[in-house]
Amino acid sequence: MRIDHLLAKATAQLSSSDTARLDAELLLAHVLDKPRSYFFTWPEKEVSAPYDHQFEHLIHQRQQGIPIAYLIGEKEFWSLRLKVNEATLIPRPDTEHLVELALACPLPEPHKANVADLGTGTGAIALALAHEQPNWQVYAIEKSQQALAVAKENAQLNHINNVSFLEGSWCEPLRREAAALDMIVSNPPYIPAKDQHLQQGDVRFEPLSALASGADGLGDIRLIIKQSAPLLKPGGWLLLEHGYDQGVLVRTLFTRMGFCQIRTESDLSDHERVSLGRKPGRLTGNSPPTTVAEN
Ligand code: GLN
Repeated sequence: MRIDHLLAKATAQLSSSDTARLDAELLLAHVLDKPRSYFFTWPEKEVSAPYDHQFEHLIHQRQQGIPIAYLIGEKEFWSLRLKVNEATLIPRPDTEHLVELALACPLPEPHKANVADLGTGTGAIALALAHEQPNWQVYAIEKSQQALAVAKENAQLNHINNVSFLEGSWCEPLRREAAALDMIVSNPPYIPAKDQHLQQGDVRFEPLSALASGADGLGDIRLIIKQSAPLLKPGGWLLLEHGYDQGVLVRTLFTRMGFCQIRTESDLSDHERVSLGRKPGRLTGNSPPTTVAEN
């Protein structure tokens, strides 16, 4: 069938998706290994039967609700191409904001820092930070062996060498490494376990352990804030992504653990999304020491 006819048919088949045409184009681009611009240049080109069948199969899977990223096996994050599979969360554009904030945190030696990404999944945050700051030592921590394997593969695919991968839950592997950190970042699971959104859309196919955390969604965030404080150097930062309605509670948890300079930043939809705080104390390093207000 011709490309334009094939795309029109698939778009109609995917009418229950808000992004039917885009979905169809992304899947056909994947099958033909061409950029989407190819379809505008060659709309009348015939697609041969094997490709046609492969495309039809993917459209059928998309009709079942399977996310595009799982069907094509990758997702772009911070200009990096990342492999994804059912063992990993699909990186979200909102999380790029956490990366921006992390890169903007003042550090005693901005180009030399020890940073940990807790629950790295595909490695999205760790790899974006390591890519931007090649002299940082980044620890990517993940308790799912399968997800950790994907993260390691993504480091290789993107030629990133300054990330160490550690298996385990939140800060546990860091305690084994006796690491002192300038920054800890995480996009942990934060959806309340009974939240109805877990039964809707793409998230139905993502690992529940990457999404949900206890009755109020804050189970893992509580653990992370508690475990992170002793591992940070004085003046070190903790940055956490969280739900749109969790800002107040997360700031309270930061305060209780003695953090200072606590604030929450909003995402593109103007929802509170990332909270950050600093461990009090005097910074050390080559740059002139800065005194951080004690709480
Ligand atoms: N850190 C990864 C991401 O932001 C995985 C997060 C998770 O699994 N909750 O995409």
